[in-house]
Amino acid sequence: MKQSLWLQSNEDFSFPAVKKSLKCDICIIGGGISGIYTAYSLAKEGFQVTLIEALPQFAHGTTAYSTGKLTVQHNIIYSKMTEEDGKIYYEANKTAIEQAVSENSDSFTKATSFLYTAADQGKEQLLNEAEHYKKIGIPFVASNEIELDLPVKLALGIKNEWQIDPVQFTNFYVHLARKHGAQLYLNTRITKIEPLKNCVHTSNAYTIQYKKLILCTHYPIESIRQLYSMKLQVSRSYLTATKCPQLLEGQYISIDSQSRTIRSALVNNVPYFIYGGQSHLAGTTGDTDHFYETLQHELTAYFELPAFEYGWSAQDIMTADQIPYIGQLSPNDDSLYIATGFNKWGLSSSLVAGILLPSLIKKEPNAATSLFSPNRSNFGKTLYFMLQTGGFISKELVKGYIARPDAPRCTHLGCKTRWNEADETYDCPCHGSRYNAKGEVIEGPAVYPLDIKKSGRSS
Ligand SMILES: Cc1cc2nc3c(=O)[nH]c(=O)nc-3n(C[C@H](O)[C@H](O)[C@H](O)COP(=O)(O)OP(=O)(O)OC[C@H]3O[C@@H](n4cnc5c(N)ncnc54)[C@H](O)[C@@H]3O)c2cc1C
Repeated sequence: MKQSLWLQSNEDFSFPAVKKSLKCDICIIGGGISGIYTAYSLAKEGFQVTLIEALPQFAHGTTAYSTGKLTVQHNIIYSKMTEEDGKIYYEANKTAIEQAVSENSDSFTKATSFLYTAADQGKEQLLNEAEHYKKIGIPFVASNEIELDLPVKLALGIKNEWQIDPVQFTNFYVHLARKHGAQLYLNTRITKIEPLKNCVHTSNAYTIQYKKLILCTHYPIESIRQLYSMKLQVSRSYLTATKCPQLLEGQYISIDSQSRTIRSALVNNVPYFIYGGQSHLAGTTGDTDHFYETLQHELTAYFELPAFEYGWSAQDIMTADQIPYIGQLSPNDDSLYIATGFNKWGLSSSLVAGILLPSLIKKEPNAATSLFSPNRSNFGKTLYFMLQTGGFISKELVKGYIARPDAPRCTHLGCKTRWNEADETYDCPCHGSRYNAKGEVIEGPAVYPLDIKKSGRSS
């Protein structure tokens, strides 16, 4: 069984499960970084907030399995937007990060964030991205050398960015949310939403009546509305951590076809080198050991580092235009909100959600509302993405019944799951639901356990 480096520093909270029906002003589902930070922000402003988390601890979903870079440099992105949108995106992330640094400075380590490439085409892309940095007003450095002994044609850096331990960071806000009066619950899964009755149901048969509901469940459990299941794709990647002689000054991500992410971290006073990549659509392969083997091979060959001690994988939700969905789930319903589609940059985007959602609920103007709106049109790109996603899901649905007839059926929409050898999980290729070896849900959109009478592990 693989394990995340960040779970070494975990703090056990003993919050209750929901044991009676409740009423609240704002109900947040999901206790990862997006849910916890939003709960804190709303409670700080005097809202009566109730947060419900399915797992026995907070921040044990994707948040605990991230790389922990907190930066405005989200891969190649600014050159894909208009200058005006780029400015809004940059300012929203910068302001949100600065606010968190001012609240929680002990959790941060400073680092320069770099995008780098070893290819001529990548160099062109980075030069183009740098042009957009200039127009937007993002200060940057560019070099053809980095502190690591890797072939580099160009590296584009933003100084004074940050690194965090994502679990410690989120736990800090658990304390603050509680201090400001948020009611937090663990071990309680929401299985049904009844938007017309402003009510959610828990798996242990209680109801929670709300005025506003915010879905911070990573993949939205209410995914059919507004065709979210077609507007989102799920991408999985792999990370390793091995002891290293010294910490790095920068944090890196390559933009080449085999992208790699690199940072270092001091955990319990031990320096670790964190190295990852190997992205693929979630649930599409069961033979996942070889992803770790490739990373291990590169750790030895390029960095002369020993065998990794920690290896983990995680998936994040991708949107057509690389911009998250933060706002009202549908334009005509101001009682239901989502924060999702973080495109593997959800640590900072969750902080944006924690600022944007309260302003939307208070009906205050915010420059970022339209850019992050889940109902933005972006017609051509979104339509193409939806057709691609729909085609992929239909193919996986049919293929699953032919190739893996004994595999358990996902309880979300009935696709056949696939046994994941390295992580010992059942993964659904259609929308990314995951279950542990006992069939318990570890990642939505599924909300009910898997029937594993036939394990289907050989298929
Ligand atoms: C490999 C990898 C590396 C990454 N590295 C970075 C990085 O360096 N920097 C960065 O900015 N971003 C990074 N990201 C992205 C970032 O980790 C995520 O976008 C972010 O953690 C998402 O936070 P969240 O709160 O939305 O989701 P989660 O952390 O998954 O939290 C959602 C919570 O909702 C709960 N839940 C779900 N359904 C229900 C239900 N029905 N009832 C009750 N509770 C429910 C889950 O149990 C879970 O705890 C990375 C992502 C990946 C995959």
